Amino acid sequence: MKSIDPFQSDQIRRLVREFGSPLLIVDCARVRSQFRRLRRALPGVDLHYALKPLPHAAVVRVIMEEGGGFDLATTGEVRLVQALGVAPERCIHTHPIKRQRDIRNALAYGITTFVADNPDEVRKLKRYGERAALLLRVSFRAPGALCDLSRKFGCDPDAAIELARLAATLGIDVRGFSFHVGSQVVDPLKHVEAIGACARLFVAARGEQLGRLDTLDIGGGFPIDYLQPAMDIRRLCAPIRAALAKLPERVRVIAEPGRYVVGPAAIAVATVMGRAQRDGHWWYYLDDGLYGSYSGQLYDRARYPVESLRQDGALLPSVLAGPTCDSIDVIAENLMLPQLKAGDLIVGRAMGAYTWASASEFNFFPKATVVVVNRKPGDRGGVECAAGERGLS
Ligand SMILES: *Cc1c(COP(=O)(O)O)cnc(C)c1O
Repeated sequence: MKSIDPFQSDQIRRLVREFGSPLLIVDCARVRSQFRRLRRALPGVDLHYALKPLPHAAVVRVIMEEGGGFDLATTGEVRLVQALGVAPERCIHTHPIKRQRDIRNALAYGITTFVADNPDEVRKLKRYGERAALLLRVSFRAPGALCDLSRKFGCDPDAAIELARLAATLGIDVRGFSFHVGSQVVDPLKHVEAIGACARLFVAARGEQLGRLDTLDIGGGFPIDYLQPAMDIRRLCAPIRAALAKLPERVRVIAEPGRYVVGPAAIAVATVMGRAQRDGHWWYYLDDGLYGSYSGQLYDRARYPVESLRQDGALLPSVLAGPTCDSIDVIAENLMLPQLKAGDLIVGRAMGAYTWASASEFNFFPKATVVVVNRKPGDRGGVECAAGERGLS
């Protein structure tokens, strides 16, 4: 049975008629196919979906059905998967800096694997004895990545063994190492370098018997097409697989993809509220903008492909602006669009990751309504609306 494509213009119009505007249309069929594509590109690697780019129940359900795991960083994320009945054995807690209550909440749910990258954080786990095991997060700088997360978290590879010794002294089981080279990487070089460095760490730490040392977490970062296309996932993963093949024996490998799973699986639909001609350009004011679903243009530095559903008429130089009274709230300038009027629809593609998740309701413009489509494999356009749903509720 073929699922209905909710990203086609007639379906988009139908959903806006039914659920209003602005919308974030999440296509579970695409979540599923992205997850499967990455799984095929990384055979033998257990994928844990990192919730933060789109912490929504519909996505969690698809990953559950696909047999995937979850990478959680906060008590809110723990509560979301817990409420949906995810088995805690499928989850790891990967925030390198935790409050005691975050650790307690995760342990109470049944999560046993945590991440630390410094001595204070390792010591925080001491009181839980054998209930909590550790992955030590190592950092590898990634100047090429859109967002270099290695600056904020992770210890120097040279300090990792000392950290493992500290954990072992405190009676905490070191399961292995983790890294996250940054998001939307342009090539696999940092992953490959990091895997090689971790392979050496496993050998050194096993030599001193500093723990079970049976897990390597290679983080996320897998890129998707925006206005700029990304490297094909099979091409990107081939050298990563080759590097993983050289790991010592008995190391289970997990990855924490976020963006790759959900980015292409959602579109944002906004409506023109009004327009004005300024300096020879048409300015169109939408009901969603930089403080809403397009927040990723600021925080995530992403440039989304945007288009008008109206395709008729001559193309004119145009500006798309968000609804708030703030002058920074401009989505795109120097676009060529047909002449639009109030009520026309604008679609942003590849908008599942780091968009709605970081949107605010500045100026009291509500966040986009999430509409979930193709929830089950073979659903024929089955639609579920989550009006006002925050994903965390
Ligand atoms: C955000 C994050 C991820 C997901 O990264 P993507 O680039 O979206 O794949 C994975 N691991 C950690 C630790 C993160 O903070």
